Amino acid sequence: MLIEKKPAICGICPGACAVEVTLESGRLVKVEPRRGVPYANLCVRGRYAPEIVYSPHRLKTPLIRTGERGEGRFRAASWDEALDLAV
Ligand code: SF4
Repeated sequence: MLIEKKPAICGICPGACAVEVTLESGRLVKVEPRRGVPYANLCVRGRYAPEIVYSPHRLKTPLIRTGERGEGRFRAASWDEALDLAV
């Protein structure tokens, strides 16, 4: 198994914190604050980024509400359809 550590930018939120990631055979397994940069902190979301990235519950397609607001009913849509609806 190939284990690599690389400097990176966390992409979980727009904060874009400087981080160091650990990859095992190309799979993200750990995120740590990047040493030597100002404000090298990592929030909880950043620390758990591997769980977020590989979660089976992660949304991978736009959803369009099909019921009343708050009912929690949605259907999958294409990006073109979602963007047409939003713009
Ligand atoms: S570490 Fe936290 S605050 Fe920084 S970019 Fe990632 S999610 Fe955002």
